[in-house]
Amino acid sequence: MAKIFCIANQKGGVGKTTTAVNLAAGLANLKQRVLLIDLDPQGNATMGAGINKAELESSVYQVLLGMGDVKAATITSETGHFDVLPSNRDLAGAEVEMVELEQREMRLKQALVSVIDNYDFILIDCPPALSMLTLNGLCAAHGVIIPMQCEYYALEGLSDLVNTIKIVHAKMNPELKVIGLLRVMFDPRMMLSQQVSSQLEKHFGDKVFKTIIPRNVRLAEAPSYGIPGVIFDPAAKGAQAYVEFGKELLARIVKT
Ligand code: ATP
Ligand code: MG
Repeated sequence: MAKIFCIANQKGGVGKTTTAVNLAAGLANLKQRVLLIDLDPQGNATMGAGINKAELESSVYQVLLGMGDVKAATITSETGHFDVLPSNRDLAGAEVEMVELEQREMRLKQALVSVIDNYDFILIDCPPALSMLTLNGLCAAHGVIIPMQCEYYALEGLSDLVNTIKIVHAKMNPELKVIGLLRVMFDPRMMLSQQVSSQLEKHFGDKVFKTIIPRNVRLAEAPSYGIPGVIFDPAAKGAQAYVEFGKELLARIVKT
């Protein structure tokens, strides 16, 4: 049975999609069967995995509204060697259309029952909002991976997210927990990065992953080729850090 993890942070542009795509490719490289779910109408994870979001016959939108099943909408990423449940801007309408549905926060969880035994990991790339889409991700998941930049305002947003996770845990999904905080786009030359990083370690202890993802231009270039960074330039520092992160996550899961 797959472990289901959300990559979530309501702050925009903090590295959620980069983490989701590279972790998916990194785990696939470690012989894990991975499904990456793009739960963002921006469709960045879809494109980053080399799938054209403009040419989808079916997507996560149809799945959430009960108009299509997961298997039919799933496409294999040829560049990343993992499966993708893709999305595009159709998904932007889903929130409003779901208002009429019963148990609308459970739609994704219910849909995943049919494929959960086909994978070792299901990774969900969440949009930058604590919206009904993100709530569907949190209700379907066993845990949350929180990518964050080590800057002053990062900590402020973090408490909102942690509170939301606590509420979902208490009322909707008792299995949900924070798997860990991942420091991304890290610039060791910045004093502030170092300070925020050690503050995080002090407050969250073991919940902070040991691996740190550096700021690395190759990771930013890879999506325009539709190739995950870890495959695009495996020798780059950013790629190596994501491979290391995949290994740390696997080890952590074996322990818990
Ligand atoms: P959104 O909230 O819009 O979904 P996001 O949290 O998914 O954004 P990304 O799209 O992963 O964030 O990253 C934002 C930008 O930063 C992208 O242009 C991406 O290529 C770049 N980026 C992400 N991680 C790194 C890194 N480690 N080094 C350099 N650039 C990075
Ligand atoms: Mg994103």
